[in-house]
Amino acid sequence: RLYNEVQELKGNIRVYCRIRPFLPGQNNKQTSIEYIGENGELVVANPFKQGKDTHRLFKFNKVFGQASTQEEVFLDTRPLIRSILDGYNVCIFAYGQTGSGKTYTMSGPSITSKEDWGVNYRALNDLFQLTQIRKNTVVYEVGVQMVEIYNEQVRDILSDGGVWNTALPNGLAVPDASMHSVRSTEDVLELMNIGLMNRTVGATALNERSSRSHCVLSVHVRGVDVETDSVLRGSLHLVDLAGSERVDRSEVTGDRLKEAQHINKSLSALGDVIFALAHKNPHVPYRNSKLTQVLQSSLGGQAKTLMFVQVNPDGDSYAETVSTLKFAERVS
Ligand code: ADP
Ligand code: MG
Repeated sequence: RLYNEVQELKGNIRVYCRIRPFLPGQNNKQTSIEYIGENGELVVANPFKQGKDTHRLFKFNKVFGQASTQEEVFLDTRPLIRSILDGYNVCIFAYGQTGSGKTYTMSGPSITSKEDWGVNYRALNDLFQLTQIRKNTVVYEVGVQMVEIYNEQVRDILSDGGVWNTALPNGLAVPDASMHSVRSTEDVLELMNIGLMNRTVGATALNERSSRSHCVLSVHVRGVDVETDSVLRGSLHLVDLAGSERVDRSEVTGDRLKEAQHINKSLSALGDVIFALAHKNPHVPYRNSKLTQVLQSSLGGQAKTLMFVQVNPDGDSYAETVSTLKFAERVS
């Protein structure tokens, strides 16, 4: 059985914090991580300052420490995947500064062995397993889209060469982005490789580009009940966000400044949308960025949202870490 060990997720917005470990060669660095509680408490402290007001306490649904494995992280994500087949729209994000482990959590390290698979491959794998288990009662079709959002432009990275477009989504799918039918996790892996290759077109270096654009993998599921012919639709959006680090405006100009402004704008729009949803505000400001427009169907209403807040443990990152955690606290 797939799910008996897992607690059901409660509520529609969850925030998990994940601290990445120090990387090889960083062993004698000072950390800002002071304490991780059993119930989602996290205390961070500036290791280079003494005295009062140097510690901050945050509380999330869960905090994964530096030794957490990809498997453990996925165990707590898993119930969401099942709900897609029950007709829910699910959105999973990774938020944090560049180098904090967003891509690691969502996809895994660059050369992925199955053990190191991140949330997106595991989620797809589960989804296909579940459709197999139910195949005598429901016939499922699964389609995948993959877009990159850069400087407020949406770009299909699964069509040849990656065509730029600025169309707005109006339903479940991103219009004008190509939809690819998939039958297995391998199919999805193959598509994602194509997407990641297209993403580098026009970029000076992969890391550079990936830290300044949002990447959205959308999985659309359509199930037809063989007895009643009734149709159920669900979707999953997996989002590797642009780096949340604040760029010093006095230090960048031209294209870099424009990029930074677009990233700021879209991340704060995302924060505003999730904040409005978490507080049940009647007006949810989806239209303030392309990112929130693309994700609209999977944010709010019956949708379930999970945000991974990624933290770099390095003491030098203290200020950035606090700003990341504040963002997450506001929406949780
Ligand atoms: P981001 O996408 O936020 O810029 P990455 O996911 O690329 O960050 O992570 C930065 C580096 O840290 C990469 O080399 C990655 O493999 C490594 N890393 C991140 N999280 C972990 C982890 N939980 N365990 C081991 N290595 C990690
Ligand atoms: Mg990344």
